Amino acid sequence: MSVLIFIDQADGHVKKASYEVLSYGAKVAEQLGTTAEGVVLGAVAADQLSALGKYGVKKIHHVANDTLNHFDTQVFTNVIAQVAQAAGSKVIIFSNNVDGKAIAPRLSARLKAGLVPGAVGLPETTNGFTVKKNVFSGKAFANLTINSDIKIITLNPNSYQVIEGSSGSAEVAPFNATVDASKVKIKAVNKASGEVPLSEAEVVVSGGRGLKGPDNWGLIENLAHALGAATACSRPVADEHWRPHHEHVGQTGLTIAPNLYIAVGISGAIQHLAGVNRSKVIVVINKDPEAPFFKAADYGIVGDAFDVVPKITEAVKKLKGMA
Ligand SMILES: Cc1cc2nc3c(=O)[nH]c(=O)nc-3n(C[C@H](O)[C@H](O)[C@H](O)COP(=O)(O)OP(=O)(O)OC[C@H]3O[C@@H](n4cnc5c(N)ncnc54)[C@H](O)[C@@H]3O)c2cc1C
Repeated sequence: MSVLIFIDQADGHVKKASYEVLSYGAKVAEQLGTTAEGVVLGAVAADQLSALGKYGVKKIHHVANDTLNHFDTQVFTNVIAQVAQAAGSKVIIFSNNVDGKAIAPRLSARLKAGLVPGAVGLPETTNGFTVKKNVFSGKAFANLTINSDIKIITLNPNSYQVIEGSSGSAEVAPFNATVDASKVKIKAVNKASGEVPLSEAEVVVSGGRGLKGPDNWGLIENLAHALGAATACSRPVADEHWRPHHEHVGQTGLTIAPNLYIAVGISGAIQHLAGVNRSKVIVVINKDPEAPFFKAADYGIVGDAFDVVPKITEAVKKLKGMA
């Protein structure tokens, strides 16, 4: 019996988001009196994997098949199921990111495992196995007990601290899995160059209808550029084609959890908050002091975005020696 943690990688590098889920999984293993193990699919250098031992994981099952260098939900599910069964994993943990959300439900069906998606804290394990999660777009919590033999959790990003506690390295164990040919043929991969991907960004500058129109987006982009941030927007902004839909955050768009989210001219409707309320620090700039977003903000600036944002941009540039 062990706790198995799925470790995301891209282009041969372990994604930073995995450190949180590793730290969380190690703590769950400690609670259950067992060991934490990781699973990595695709080519990643062994020294990078063994270094993950500092997050408390004892062993990494590495399936280094070239087919796995590109994400494919069905193929990944099959391989993780094989690893979980061979390792006798009773708790399997993913980040609640795009990959985790795609794999976990399929794996749950395959292994007949109960699944709690979007956990926000450690499970209660003294009497059963109960996991806390957000419901109603973050308006309430639910505590769900998993009764099945195998349990799967996806952890909401920014819900647990990264702990570099352990000394020593993890054992890297090559795993020889049966890897099916993908049913999906990737014809081209078009990567946005020069932009910080929104889902990975630590800082996000986001604009709403308060920006009045697409011609004013330089305001958002300049601040984002100065901060090394990604840009995002509210849904009406994308609906009105001021910005592309992949930038729209919220209930019907991307869910993000950056360290810093700066909302400019966004009212803070519940559907918008659902996508951003797990950000570590929220800064709201709005000319209406009654805007609901201020209730969710760590810092608020009541003012006209067209006055305030250029001043912040200049100050950041000066601080960074960019001016
Ligand atoms: C089923 C459903 C799903 C939805 N999903 C989403 C979703 O995923 N994401 C999402 O964002 N919305 C979503 N919505 C829409 C949501 O309810 C809001 O309508 C939307 O978020 C409002 O966008 P906004 O804040 O940009 O615009 P507005 O509500 O028009 O707010 C504009 C804000 O800008 C401020 N402002 C105006 N001028 C300035 C200025 N010069 N300087 C500073 N501030 C200024 C105003 O005071 C105001 O607070 C959904 C709605 C429904 C019904």
